Parts: sequence; structure tokens; C-alpha cells
Amino acid sequence: MCRTDLHVIDGELALPRLPLVPGHEIIGIVESVGPGAQALRAGQRVGVPWLAHTCGHCAYCASGRENLCDTPVFTGHGRDGGFATHVVAEAAYCLPLAQTGDAVRLAPLMCAGLIGWRCLRVAGAEARDLGLYGFGAAAHLIAQVAARQGRRVYAFTRDGDTSGQAFARSLGAAWAGSSGELPPVPLDAAIIFAPVGDLVPLALRATRKGGRVVCGGIHMSDIPRFAYRLLWEERQLVSVANLTRADATEFLEHVVHAPLDVRTTPYPLAQANQALDDLRSGRIEGAAVLVPDRAELPPWESDLRRA
Ligand SMILES: [Zn+2]
Ligand SMILES: [Zn+2]
Repeated sequence: MCRTDLHVIDGELALPRLPLVPGHEIIGIVESVGPGAQALRAGQRVGVPWLAHTCGHCAYCASGRENLCDTPVFTGHGRDGGFATHVVAEAAYCLPLAQTGDAVRLAPLMCAGLIGWRCLRVAGAEARDLGLYGFGAAAHLIAQVAARQGRRVYAFTRDGDTSGQAFARSLGAAWAGSSGELPPVPLDAAIIFAPVGDLVPLALRATRKGGRVVCGGIHMSDIPRFAYRLLWEERQLVSVANLTRADATEFLEHVVHAPLDVRTTPYPLAQANQALDDLRSGRIEGAAVLVPDRAELPPWESDLRRA
């Protein structure tokens, strides 16, 4: 479950179709393949991420930026998604995975991990002091990646969220505090994962000359007016949209060599609404994951798990 699912359900995004099954961080086993889908075979485990289809020929697709395709389709947005026992996906956009490993802990990698990875790339390799605003599913993964790369991570949470701050420190953050606070040193870059426009001037204020603030969410409340001096001195304010398949390949490769401590709160699929409420109110540490009841799975999948 991703915050984007909340934006979809709360009507904060324009939707190409309704009714709609949300969910775009899917781990599943291929039940059958259609004609032409030679890359996949029945029984293979795959991830199904947000990027469900691109045109392949627009200026963005042609220049390695399929995340910005003019006519994309997204899982759980333009096509039914993963809050379900079964899903239809396009083979070329599925991510082949190892057959083993806990599906619950793999699921958050499919968006929180992937988008976090792309945000980290955009923040820049030279960003050593890195701020993360909003310490949810994405930040808890990417903080670990950043710390391993030798960066110092500064985690910003809601005011008074001491358990969130302790959580951030436990995953390698050098400092954790409230989003209104200034970190002990100016940041080289900041990534804003929380959908809160008020954080933009706060992050710019915490960022050094020439630094960069990356907005990682698909939706954000309005950004308040702020003084030009916060942007002055070549600070940059950018957003990250969607992902490319190359991002996914690169990130999954990274994770194979350096597994992440993925913290999840699993819910039965039937309690999806409760999980959404908990995510909305910030009660979840790490990522919420919906798990279909075993009884709903086809029998061959449980056989595969025993193997
Ligand atoms: Zn997402
Ligand atoms: Zn395109």
C-alpha cells in the first residue's frame, strides 16, 4: 500500500477510469501468459509496479525517460491493481524476481523503494548531508541505502513524533527531529516524501547554497508563498515522477547485493480500509502490506511455497 493509493481513493488525482482496483506494489506468481509474452512463464514470481505501459515512441520514451511518457498507463490507476487476489499485467513491465524471499517484505520495494531510489538519484551523488522529510515507507528504505553509501541522513517527522524519530535513528539516520527544526548542518539535498506543501519552504531553508530539494510524491497540498531568498543562490526545486524500467532493474540489482531491513505492517486483504485509515493517520511504521487470504490463492501457489 502506497500513499498514492490514498490519493487515488480520496479523489486527489484525475482518474482515467472508475470503478478501479487500487494497488501498484504487487508481488505475485504468473498463473498464465498470453500469446507474445515469451519473457515470462507460468509459475515465475514477478513484481508489478506503478508503470504499467508506455507508448515506446514519444519524445520521452525515445530519450530514456519513459517515466514521462505522453500516453502512459499506471497500475491501480488506468488499470486495475493489486488490492486483489489476481491481476492482469503487461509482461514487458513486470519485474522478474527470485522465487524465494518473503513476499510481504518484497512488496514495499515495488514503489516505496523504487521511487525512493529515483529520488535519491535525482538528489545527486554529491549530496552527502541528505534530509528526508516524512519518514514513511519510502524514507525508511532509502535512508538505509543512503547511509550505506556514506551519506549522513537527517530525518524530519511531524512535530512531536518521537517514535518516528527513534525509528529513523534505528535505521541509520544521523539526526532526527521535527520538520520545523533546522538540522545541525545545512543540507546538500533534501527529499520530501510527505504530501505537504508547507514542507517546501522549510526544506529550502534547511538546504545550503546550490543545494537541491526533490519532491517525491505524486500529489502535494499547495505550496505556500515564500520569500525568493529561500530559492536564491542556485538552490533547485524539482519533482520526481513515476519510474523507468531501468530504475527498477538498477534498484533491484542493488537490493540483491545489499538487502534492506524492510519494516511492514501486514493486513488481511479484507481489512484494506482499516489499513488505509492507519496510513492516512500516520499510525504505520514502515509500510502497510495487504495479504490475500491463503484460501483465496490457487492451490499451486501454496505448493510452490512449500517447495
Ligand atoms: Zn506508489
Ligand atoms: Zn511514450
